[in-house]
Amino acid sequence: MKSEKRRALPEPFKIKMVEPLRITTKDYRLEKLKTATYNPFLLKSDDVFIDLLTDSGTGAMSDHQWAGILMGDESYAGAKSWQHLERVVKELTGMPYILPTHQGRAAERILYSTIGGKDKVFISNTHFDTTRANIEFTGAKAIDIPSVDSSNLEKESDFKGNIDINKLSELIIEHGAENIGAVIMTVTNNSSGGQPVSMGNMLEVRSICDEHQVMMVIDGCRIAENSYFVKHREPDYANYTYEEIAQKMLQLGDAFVMSAKKDGMVNIGGLLTMKDKSLSEKCTNLLIISEGFTTYGGLAGRDMEAMAIGLKEVFDPDYLHYRIRSTAYLGEHLRAKGIPVVWPIGGHAVYIDASKLYPNIPLDQYPGQALVCDLYEQGGIRCVEVGSVMFGKYDSKGKLIPAKNELVRLAIPRRTYTQSHIDYVIDVFDDILEMKEQRRGFKITYEPPFLRHFTARFEPV
Ligand SMILES: *Cc1c(COP(=O)(O)O)cnc(C)c1O
Repeated sequence: MKSEKRRALPEPFKIKMVEPLRITTKDYRLEKLKTATYNPFLLKSDDVFIDLLTDSGTGAMSDHQWAGILMGDESYAGAKSWQHLERVVKELTGMPYILPTHQGRAAERILYSTIGGKDKVFISNTHFDTTRANIEFTGAKAIDIPSVDSSNLEKESDFKGNIDINKLSELIIEHGAENIGAVIMTVTNNSSGGQPVSMGNMLEVRSICDEHQVMMVIDGCRIAENSYFVKHREPDYANYTYEEIAQKMLQLGDAFVMSAKKDGMVNIGGLLTMKDKSLSEKCTNLLIISEGFTTYGGLAGRDMEAMAIGLKEVFDPDYLHYRIRSTAYLGEHLRAKGIPVVWPIGGHAVYIDASKLYPNIPLDQYPGQALVCDLYEQGGIRCVEVGSVMFGKYDSKGKLIPAKNELVRLAIPRRTYTQSHIDYVIDVFDDILEMKEQRRGFKITYEPPFLRHFTARFEPV
């Protein structure tokens, strides 16, 4: 990997409109945390100072996008804004059939309920949770085979988001190619730390899919961020533009799903595109039944206009450099303080290994949840546990079977916070380090049967 200097970059934009943030006291936050039963998902956003819960739909639009909002054509059919979006997406994906949806999971539901079903098997570098849910809902099975390197949280490796190519061939043969619904490449690999996928890996997946006549789907929510890593880490692509790299990668797929709330640079929107006509006809039927007519799919004309503009802006080299380097800036500074972070830093978030930071808190007292609560209490920072609260299960005796890792994710909204906000976040970790011996874990006092992290309630042990 080329050395990337640990240096800040001034944001390549200036502020034209501000949204005030409320500064609160520690006592105030502790009270709010209690009321939220120690689950920051239950906090009100105006009690949060720096919100790093997610990078999904939380970014700031440009003046050009806001101008597009006013230009949005709200015609039911064949709107100008739809034509604009369709043109941009065709150019990006090279695919002829473009379906707009209200967000990523709607595109997933339409695609996977068409190609999924009982007896089908889907294989991925890692299924994102809504992807897995939409696949399993059809009765199909979803298998993750991330690269070997991805299991070592600290290992320096350029493309930890890759799929394990050897296992891919084996699994296709084991299940029979006719039973494989699709191979899904999540780019970047969200659930494994926003780690990038190499073009080399994508080319190998394409050739295995060709060999076995299996469909290849690209979940490309963060395709632009991934292109940055490809350009800077894969020498064959150093001379291509970010957009050209994305085009080359997307052309490898048979279908593409995207939550535009990420690299679409908008607050709502999604896409489903494909090469096959008969598949597109089936998906279009579902789109019309559940999302809307083919030229708006659950979006307002203004949303499509902003998305069309966002999908071009995201490839701006100054923006992408700022985006990737500013995320790395946070991760590198935390690491320099001795905070155990997942390494190298991915595109959209910094992940902290909470079990390593809080070794005194046993796994069944949720060290990740403890860190999430401490960051809110100490600094008004909101983030999310990605560990045993999110993925833990119980054995027959009710004992916790912990998740593979106890991580905490600090996701960075696009173009939203400045370097001084991020420096503040870095400073708050000094307080975390100071009091880490005194920290206590939590027990769960209420949990729903599914996706418990959203609504679970906790009590300090
Ligand atoms: C966010 C996301 C989705 C789902 O998109 P929504 O817009 O939240 O419905 C699917 N896949 C990946 C990789 C994502 O990051």
